[in-house]
Amino acid sequence: MRAAVLQEPRQVVVVDVPDPVVDGEVLLRMRAVGLCGSDLHTWRGHHPFRKPPVVLGHEGAGEVVSSADPAFSAGDRVAVLPALSCWECRRCEAGHPHLCADKRVPGGGWPGMLSEYFAAPARVLVPLGDGIGYDEGALIEPLAVAWHCTGGGSVSAGDSVAVLGGGPIGSLLAAVSQIRGAATVLVSDVKAYNRDFLGRQGVPHVVDPSADNLPAVGADLTGDGFDVVVVASGHPSCLAEALALARPRGRVVLLPMFADALSVDLNPAVLKEITIQGSTIYTPADFRSAARLVNDRLLDVRPYITDVVPLDRTPEVLTAIDAGADHLKIQIDPTR
Ligand SMILES: [Zn+2]
Ligand SMILES: [Zn+2]
Repeated sequence: MRAAVLQEPRQVVVVDVPDPVVDGEVLLRMRAVGLCGSDLHTWRGHHPFRKPPVVLGHEGAGEVVSSADPAFSAGDRVAVLPALSCWECRRCEAGHPHLCADKRVPGGGWPGMLSEYFAAPARVLVPLGDGIGYDEGALIEPLAVAWHCTGGGSVSAGDSVAVLGGGPIGSLLAAVSQIRGAATVLVSDVKAYNRDFLGRQGVPHVVDPSADNLPAVGADLTGDGFDVVVVASGHPSCLAEALALARPRGRVVLLPMFADALSVDLNPAVLKEITIQGSTIYTPADFRSAARLVNDRLLDVRPYITDVVPLDRTPEVLTAIDAGADHLKIQIDPTR
């Protein structure tokens, strides 16, 4: 089968690789696979564990070709939860399988999804609703990231929420914050394309941090700062901005993988008693919640999809994204 393989940093080639070996799993024909920031990290050679040679892609939806599990049959349309936890360790048993030290993910102990076929156990497959496209299905994964990040009491009804970075994850964070009942949502992004998109999506306050005084805008909106500030951009200035925007006893949630160690004045965190927490991927329950949002169109994710392109265009698309091309979510259709 054909697959998009990162052979060395910045060198993706579409080549023939062996078909997946199916042993009690479900064989899928992948129909939409999203490219995300962590694929770009991998492409640049910066990802902590996804190292070349590796097949990229972990946001996928496809069609069942064959299934050893009676829960699925040929022709079913599914999205894939791309994490295989051990379900035996202390972290898994404590209800945090997404933090499992032994988990396998695409590109780390499990092949990536940018290939014609992909094998997965039935327990990580979620059916797509009637009339829901594969492209929408492939957005369940990044939506689950946003759902997890705002869950567990991070964002409560009535909260004021600021999101730093308005790319695909930042814009989904704004949407799920509104779904969770946030009273005020502000997103800051330096890219006019992203700000225009956020405005069209009905985000109430969209700010250009390079032109507007972000702390002043935040103070005008909230009085004493935001209840929750989510850092959804890896830009080194974001953490200091977040600490400035958070209210006393507010919360700062860190979502991106930072390329370098940050040096930041933490005194605002001390003096305002700010809680700083990390957020990474999602639990299976978060993934199912995100699937329901998509399947019931409680959130219509179609506007987030900028383009769906054939597998052969993967190298060119990654190069364009790296160069800063305007886009929200670009997906690959490996059957094309
Ligand atoms: Zn991703
Ligand atoms: Zn485990």
